[in-house]
Amino acid sequence: MYNTEVMKKEKRHFDVVVVGGGPSGMMAAGRAAERGLSVAILEKNADVGDKLKITGGRRCNITNAEYDNRKFLQNFGDAGKFLFSPFSQFSVSSTFKFFEKRGLPLVIEARKRTFPRTQKAYDVYAVMKKYMKDNKVTIVTNSPVLKIVSSDGVVENVQTIQYVYTADNFIFATGGASAPETGSTGDGFKWLEKIGHSVKKPSPNVVPLRVDEKWVHELSGTSLSFMKISFFLNGVRSFSKTGKILFTHFGLSGPLILNSSYEVQQLLKDGEVVAEIDMFPDTDLGLLEKKLLKTFDANKNKLLKNIIPDIVPEGMNSALEAHLTDEELLTKVHSITVDMRKYIMTFLKKMPVNIAGTMGFDRAVISDGGITLEEIDMKDMKSKLYKNLYVTGDLLNINRPSGGFSLQLCWTTGYVAGDSIGE
Ligand SMILES: Cc1cc2nc3c(=O)[nH]c(=O)nc-3n(C[C@H](O)[C@H](O)[C@H](O)COP(=O)(O)OP(=O)(O)OC[C@H]3O[C@@H](n4cnc5c(N)ncnc54)[C@H](O)[C@@H]3O)c2cc1C
Repeated sequence: MYNTEVMKKEKRHFDVVVVGGGPSGMMAAGRAAERGLSVAILEKNADVGDKLKITGGRRCNITNAEYDNRKFLQNFGDAGKFLFSPFSQFSVSSTFKFFEKRGLPLVIEARKRTFPRTQKAYDVYAVMKKYMKDNKVTIVTNSPVLKIVSSDGVVENVQTIQYVYTADNFIFATGGASAPETGSTGDGFKWLEKIGHSVKKPSPNVVPLRVDEKWVHELSGTSLSFMKISFFLNGVRSFSKTGKILFTHFGLSGPLILNSSYEVQQLLKDGEVVAEIDMFPDTDLGLLEKKLLKTFDANKNKLLKNIIPDIVPEGMNSALEAHLTDEELLTKVHSITVDMRKYIMTFLKKMPVNIAGTMGFDRAVISDGGITLEEIDMKDMKSKLYKNLYVTGDLLNINRPSGGFSLQLCWTTGYVAGDSIGE
C-alpha cells in the first residue's frame, strides 16, 4: 500500500525549509539565503510577520539596549546560561547594526527599550521582508504546514495541502501560543513533542491579570503612575513591585503587571492571591494621616463624598466610594470618626484586589514553555535529536520579561540558525 495522499502532492526541494514566517524565521531564512543556500519559508497566513506588525503597540520594541551580554542575559533566569554562545555570535549591538545598515535607525527610550526611529513596527517587518527578498528566499504564504515526516534522527519532509517539501535542513520557527489570531497556535510544540523532544506545556506569560470585581472594571483607563503593589498568597506576603499600573475593563495591566504575571501565575497554582496597592508608596502612615487631617480641617462642613477627589490620586474616586457605605459617604467631614479615618488611610496604603487569574493566551505577549534547551545545541540552534533540524524564537523554553527581550531572542536565535545551517 502506498500513501495516495502523498503521491498526489507535488514535491519541492530546497537546501533549507523554514516553517513559520515570524521574526526568528525571517531572520533565519534571510541569513541562510545570504550565505548562498536555496531557502523557502512556509507561512500559514496571507503574509509573513503578522505578530511582528503589532509588537510594542505597533511601535515594535525591537530590542533592549543593554550591550553587555552578561547583564542582558540576567533577564532570562535559568535560561541565561544557555544563551551566551548564541549571543556571542549575534548580540544586541548586532541588532543595532543589522537594522541601521538597512536604513532603519533605532532610538532608545526609558528602561533601555529600543524602537525604530520611525516608531512603526511595520518598518521592521518591511526590513525583514526585503532582507529575504534581496537574498532570493522563496516566500510561500497561505501554506500551513500540516504534517512533519521524520525517521531515525532525520526530518524527511514537511507537507502542506499541496506540496511535500524536502530539504537538507529544516528550521522550525512557528512561534509560541500567545496571540493565536496572528498564526502562532502552538503547532511547533505539538510536532516537536510528537517526534520525541521534551516540550514544557505552554502557559500564557507576560499577560495582564484578571480581576472579577466590578469596582476595578469601573476604574478602566485610570493609571497610577507611581504605586507599590504587593502580592499575597493565602494571606502571606510573597513579593512587591513599585512603578506604574493600569486599570482595564478586565483587571490590571501595564508593564509592571505584565512582568509580574509569571510569578503571580506560580502563586495562583498554590491558592488565593490578593494584591494590595499602596497609592502613596513614598508617604508613611504618619505623614499620610497629617495630610488627611489637613484636608479634613479645610473642608469640615462638606460631605465626605465631595472631598474624595482631594484624598485619592486622580481617577481613583470610584475605588474609595465602592468601599464606603452610602451612610459613610454622606457623613459631614467634621463627624468622621477616628475608626473611619484609619479605614480610609488603610485603604489608601493597602487597597485590596483579588486576582482571579490571567487573561490567557489571547492577551499574552508570550507563552511560557516550549522545547527544553538541554535538547538544543545552543551554538547553532540545532536539535540534539535530529541532525537536520533547527529551532528558533518562541518555540524555545525561555522565560523573559517584556522590554524588547523576546524580539532580541528571535534576532539572535534566527541569525545563528541561518548562519550555521548546512555547515
Ligand atoms: C501583542 C504583542 C506585542 C508584542 N510586543 C513585543 C515587543 O514590543 N517586543 C518584543 O521583544 N516582543 C514583543 N512581543 C513578543 C514577540 O512578538 C514574539 O516573541 C515574536 O513574535 C516571536 O517570534 P517567532 O519568530 O518565534 O514566532 P511568531 O512571531 O509567533 O511567528 C510564527 C509564525 O509561524 C506561523 N506558523 C505557525 N504555525 C504554522 C504552520 N503550521 N505552518 C506554517 N506557518 C505557521 C505563524 O503564522 C507565524 O507567522 C509581542 C507579542 C504580542 C502578542
